[in-house]
Amino acid sequence: MSSDKKLTPISDLGEFGLIDRMTKGIKLKNKSSVKGVGDDAAVVNHNGYQTVITTDMLTEGIHFDLSYSPLKHLGYKAVVVNLSDILAMNAKPTQIVVSIAVSARTSVESLDELYAGIYEACNFYKVDLVGGDTTSSRSGLVISITAIGKAKPEDLIYRSGAKENDLICVTGDLGAAYMGLQLLIREKEVYKVNPNSQPDLSGFEHILERQLKPECPISIIDKLEKMNVRPTAMIDISDGLSSEVLHICQASEVGCVVHEDKLPIDESTIKFGNQIGVHSSIAALNGGEDYELLFTVPLSDFDTIKRYPEIKVIGHITKEDKGCSLVTGDGTYLPLDAQGFDHGANE
Ligand code: ADP
Ligand code: MG
Repeated sequence: MSSDKKLTPISDLGEFGLIDRMTKGIKLKNKSSVKGVGDDAAVVNHNGYQTVITTDMLTEGIHFDLSYSPLKHLGYKAVVVNLSDILAMNAKPTQIVVSIAVSARTSVESLDELYAGIYEACNFYKVDLVGGDTTSSRSGLVISITAIGKAKPEDLIYRSGAKENDLICVTGDLGAAYMGLQLLIREKEVYKVNPNSQPDLSGFEHILERQLKPECPISIIDKLEKMNVRPTAMIDISDGLSSEVLHICQASEVGCVVHEDKLPIDESTIKFGNQIGVHSSIAALNGGEDYELLFTVPLSDFDTIKRYPEIKVIGHITKEDKGCSLVTGDGTYLPLDAQGFDHGANE
């Protein structure tokens, strides 16, 4: 936000003026959104479908840093992190409610930006904003979004369905969001020392976008249905691949083998990792914030899955007593754990 424009304090509008400003243009897109903003509660009718609900809260200073997160991107990301959890149930996101706690430093213009990002995500993912809450905070901006989705009961996919010999699949590429964050942190430090320095971000657009404005793979849900492939277990990758694979294995009472050399990693993730001395596999396994999907499918679906380049097979499910392993590039078996593995100083 440019500092030469005068910013409007929220007190100029008051709570109701502010709510009205943030919600006045809403046009409901989904038939299931019976009543949106403007009454005591929203009404949603999923008509025989089951309702899937998830919520995520983002806190300034913990989950985001306003010195390098543009508010519009932050609004977009706050929606995506929620929709990702709906997709992970194999459900279709339909509505969100948005609650914000604003600090004395928050201006009306900055909330305009935040909501512009929220609405952009709502349009892209075809969900309706149907309510929220507005309050104040002494410590900084807090954004809490609840997403609602629908699924036929028989379509819901839990973490607990993985079976021995199933293939472990992931969408997209991993580790980029972590590297993007490290790049932003590095440039912030450079700026602190020399405020006239220009940030050196060229060639790293992908890792920055993955950190600041991530997408979740909504088209995969329909594609899997069209392919006639039904995953046995599914989870979204928000905390790093290792911890998500372990969640599936624990819930399904199975073990697994994941191959390091099959992890989908973008060139720019590898390149930036080399600059800062962090192996890209470590970022993929433990970095987090990728918002891709991890799922298991029966071995018999391999011929179908392999025709889709956006889906990568990275390993397979074993019996529980085999444990959870990572096979490194040189064929060494290491225990897969949520803290990651030491890749060795000589690599
Ligand atoms: P109440 O006092 O009954 O909780 P509010 O005045 O908080 O009602 O909210 C009025 C309407 O505006 C409700 O429909 C609510 O869901 C919606 N709303 C409030 N805050 C927000 C917000 N930050 N974003 C979107 N909708 C909001
Ligand atoms: Mg309220």
